[in-house]
Amino acid sequence: MRIGFGTDIHKLVEGRPLIVGGVVIPHHLGCSGHSDGDPLIHAICDALLGAIALRDIGFHFPDNDPSNKNMDSSFFLREVMKMVRENGYQVGNIDTVVNLQKPKLSPHIPFIIDNLSKIMEISPNQINVKAKTAEQLGFVGEEKGISTEAIVLLVKSDGEN
Ligand code: MG
Repeated sequence: MRIGFGTDIHKLVEGRPLIVGGVVIPHHLGCSGHSDGDPLIHAICDALLGAIALRDIGFHFPDNDPSNKNMDSSFFLREVMKMVRENGYQVGNIDTVVNLQKPKLSPHIPFIIDNLSKIMEISPNQINVKAKTAEQLGFVGEEKGISTEAIVLLVKSDGEN
């Protein structure tokens, strides 16, 4: 078994869509970033890469590479899942936290889990997403940004890829 951990932070700005786990969340602010700025997918990618000791998302998909501009982050997640499988592992389970003051994420969580399960080609019951506000404290509470955490357990696949 291998364990991995990932985090991410993005600024919330006008004029960008708010995309969490590949799902567009209706809101007047969205995540700044070179790619589509999806903080949940970025944290999951870092957790997966951490578990196979293959650095981090910025190492594989640099934000100074023009080809990653406005990139759909589900591409990064598909590529990282390939690396996981090529290294002989499969996902046991993933647990995540999204820290966001507004809007309420809870109604969107089933769609986020369903979307992530399709991208990663695993069962929805292997993925958990929790949403927390920050009681108006700090950059999350002041609605200036969003932060995420993800932890993943990988298990050896039985030779089949
Ligand atoms: Mg990011």
